[in-house]
Amino acid sequence: RRTLNTDISGEDIKIEKSLRPVYLSEYIGQERLKGNLQISIDAAKRRGESLDHILFYGPPGLGKTTLAGIIAHEMGVKMKATSGPAIEKPGEIAAILNGLSEGDVLFIDEIHRLNRQVEEVLYSAMEDFYIDVVIGKDSGSRSVRINLPKFTLVGATTRAGMLTAPLRDRFGISYKLDYYTPGELKEIIIRSSELLDVDINEDAASDLSKRSRGTPRIANRLLKRVRDYAQIRFDGVITKDVVSSTLDLMEIDSLGLDKGDKSILETIIYKFAGGPVGIDTLAASLGEDAGTIEDVYEPFLLQQGFINRTPRGRVVTEAAYKHLGVSMGE
Ligand code: ADP
Repeated sequence: RRTLNTDISGEDIKIEKSLRPVYLSEYIGQERLKGNLQISIDAAKRRGESLDHILFYGPPGLGKTTLAGIIAHEMGVKMKATSGPAIEKPGEIAAILNGLSEGDVLFIDEIHRLNRQVEEVLYSAMEDFYIDVVIGKDSGSRSVRINLPKFTLVGATTRAGMLTAPLRDRFGISYKLDYYTPGELKEIIIRSSELLDVDINEDAASDLSKRSRGTPRIANRLLKRVRDYAQIRFDGVITKDVVSSTLDLMEIDSLGLDKGDKSILETIIYKFAGGPVGIDTLAASLGEDAGTIEDVYEPFLLQQGFINRTPRGRVVTEAAYKHLGVSMGE
């Protein structure tokens, strides 16, 4: 495995938590989503009701978990967080649901990875706020209905297309998160540097924002690396030079493409004559998981206009050849 953007250390997780916005007003970007969410929150509060179930989808690191926490804060309720792969048995989801209080947020990350039996427990829980649990064994077993408080399920997924129709239909609201603009990322970087008590120049923040792959999590992670470098090599102030030396060292290019992005483009160019190539063939050739390519790398490369999806597979665009400095016949 050579996934670069998906490696997270314990230290990164700690920092990530400390940088999470708590209120909607602190959450930068995703303006339309924020506007709509604010209306839903205000309306639910005014009626004294719980919020509709909400699904957030989009690439990792764009702020889905953060939004779930913000919703709980804004609604003045508690949040319980878990993830699709963490819940193995129907009994486990039943116990989680049974422990919720009126209005609480249940956040399920990677909700597309719930197994079928667990997912089926959620259907009645989400729709009518009850679950049927089976008590006892064999001939002595019977089903007992448990009523649940009106909770709000917030689901997050990198792939809305992987959700089953019955689950998808039970979300009242669904929002897609988009990559952030450099301007928005710059605001996030400045906010984070204030929280981390780091001194960063305006133009350094600008440069960093352009090399953060449109992703707040990456912006924060790079800010931390750049800070370390500034402290060791310079007098602690993050300047344009510090940003460029650190990111060059990390092999992150001027547009934020990392080694993983580049090896995808180069593999398509050199091994498959620029494409088209199917995702599974590409994945096998890279020794990478097809899902990771589709969820983590491809959305950004598509958004940057470096690859196209055709019915016969992925094709590298002229813009990518140009960016990599490769002539098209090579
Ligand atoms: P996801 O759940 O989509 O993978 P997270 O919610 O965990 O992403 O966000 C990753 C990190 O990025 C968080 O720690 C948070 O500090 C930061 N972040 C995400 N979105 C924003 C935002 N809109 N404004 C400020 N910081 C953000």
